[in-house]
Amino acid sequence: MEFKGLKQQYNFLKKEVDTAISSVIEETNFISGHQIKELETQLAQYVGVKHCLSCANGTDALSLVLMAWNIGPKDAVFVPDFTFFASAEVVSFSGATPVFVDVDADTYNIDCVKLEDAIKGVIAEGNLLPKVIIAVDLFGQPAEYDKIKVIADKYSLLILEDSAQGFGGKIGGKHAGSFGDAATTSFFPVKPLGCYGDGGAIFTNDSDIAKLIDSYRNHGKGSYKYDNVRVGLNSRLDTLQAALLLPKFKAFVEFELNDINNAADYYKTMLASFVKVPYVKPLYYSSWAQYTIQLKDEKERDALKAALKEKEIPTMIYYPTPMHAQTAFSNLPDRSPELPVSSELCKRVLVLPLHPYITKTEQDIVIDAILEFMKGVCP
Ligand SMILES: *Cc1c(COP(=O)(O)O)cnc(C)c1O
Repeated sequence: MEFKGLKQQYNFLKKEVDTAISSVIEETNFISGHQIKELETQLAQYVGVKHCLSCANGTDALSLVLMAWNIGPKDAVFVPDFTFFASAEVVSFSGATPVFVDVDADTYNIDCVKLEDAIKGVIAEGNLLPKVIIAVDLFGQPAEYDKIKVIADKYSLLILEDSAQGFGGKIGGKHAGSFGDAATTSFFPVKPLGCYGDGGAIFTNDSDIAKLIDSYRNHGKGSYKYDNVRVGLNSRLDTLQAALLLPKFKAFVEFELNDINNAADYYKTMLASFVKVPYVKPLYYSSWAQYTIQLKDEKERDALKAALKEKEIPTMIYYPTPMHAQTAFSNLPDRSPELPVSSELCKRVLVLPLHPYITKTEQDIVIDAILEFMKGVCP
């Protein structure tokens, strides 16, 4: 059984994807080919923002926004404690200080009450200047932007939406990628919209910032490529990736998002009485980057993982370690007493196989194995 269905997806889209790839090779327009602009135009329109700027990966996308916002030493950037390392890594990389905030145990997204507490704490300490909130759309569900926006306005902070896992998600009719002052996504192969290697993009309505990012992603170019007006990065999306993303994006919009939501609903129907299934808030729509269940404790989680492995059912633990406990951040002040939920989640979460091409038969195998295990736990 495939965990993410990349082979099943390729078999389904083979004709369109192969054609897209060979056209780039035939045109030999490997860098900045016309497919880049085509993709950026389509994605900006879908997300509902003025500008989409593709780049080399989702981590650079975050860094490019922080560079354009001139974030650096003495700045505080608030980041959820329960996320992929890159969300916080880019903050330290910019020279600023990440301040970790606990998350909500049901949505896995940043806890807005604790966010405001953390901002007040940093102001009271007086060492750092609060500048940015990085809100992560974890596992596919957008963060609570209505509440985050109120806090950001109150303390004059910018919102950076890390939608590496959220692309395709919605709140009401609004798409993920449109909620922050800027937003980013990743096309890493197993993200909701993945390419065949590394890739990423930035979304914003701010034309000045878009111009700056366009420069920063291309060696700080000025009016032309060999006029370098600032120090930037080499962070372009390959034409090959843009070209194959075009048919993949079409499939994503036309049926994949719908199919993965149906498959997630089926897990929920069958599993909700036995384990804690994901909670999607009313009016929210998830793109299901991951289907994460919670068990009673670490012992039960690890035993279930082993029992599923025995039956050749792949599962993952996202994430085993909270940000505040990462070795790379051991230089930061210890705020672990403020972060009990994320530490607890790391012990209890387990991610099940889910993708748009999963069959009901495959899901039934997963469901039956979980029910059999749970009967053994509480007969
Ligand atoms: C994957 C991911 C990133 C980084 O994206 P890459 O394309 O792998 O650099 C950043 N934030 C989150 C939440 C992610 O899941």
